Amino acid sequence: MSRIPLIAGNWKMNKTPDEAVKSAQELVELTAGAEAVEAMIAPPFTALTAVATVLADSPLHLGAQNLFWEASGAYTGEIAPNMLTAAGCSHVIIGHSERRQYFNETNATVNKRVHAAVENGLIPVVCIGETLEERQSESTQLVLGDQLKAGLANLTAKDLAHLVVAYEPIWAIGTGQAATPDTAQATHQFIRSFLQKSFGNKLANSVKILYGGSVNVDNIKELMAKPDIDGALVGGASLEAETFSQLVCFNLSE
Ligand code: PEP
Repeated sequence: MSRIPLIAGNWKMNKTPDEAVKSAQELVELTAGAEAVEAMIAPPFTALTAVATVLADSPLHLGAQNLFWEASGAYTGEIAPNMLTAAGCSHVIIGHSERRQYFNETNATVNKRVHAAVENGLIPVVCIGETLEERQSESTQLVLGDQLKAGLANLTAKDLAHLVVAYEPIWAIGTGQAATPDTAQATHQFIRSFLQKSFGNKLANSVKILYGGSVNVDNIKELMAKPDIDGALVGGASLEAETFSQLVCFNLSE
């Protein structure tokens, strides 16, 4: 089954609206020749509307970094799904390890956010990943299985059709120590087989599974050559348009 790769940039808490617009403009120009690949950037909330205008006539997708599951009300500091769609988002990152670590995100709250995203027509990019201790104690599959089971609980096969999973080993995020392509592939294969058992082969085979954790211009090709790696979720290397454009165009260079 051929899945169109998705290269997604998570800008985290970086860039004012002006800075974000400048980067987005550069990215639109630099990726104009990209082929057979989808790309998405997730700026901070305050820059979404301005960046949406820049991306409007380009194939680049706009994503948010989080959302809340309620539609409106007294939830100071939160953002509703329809606010994201109104701002021009098609995607939303959910359950990033930094949200789990610093903001008490759990598999249960991930699940609520995933449901809110799909009910509002947003494509959730659901992040899962194990710590170094968990990998060293050989509990990676147990941890990822729990994250998938609880995080995707009560989703229908129809919901799954537009879901993206991002495997991000926590020990690889921002460390410069990416998982080797073989390690990443083995874990992606586990994730795919988990999805196959839960949702059936056809749908599971259509789900994009992105790898995230220190992806850069030197390792992207080898990672992308693996059969179950369908793209990348990129933090640090997505901040400079020049670098991120090379990742988006990974399949064009020699
Ligand atoms: C991330 O935070 O999602 C990430 C993958 O970061 P980096 O690419 O900087 O490791």
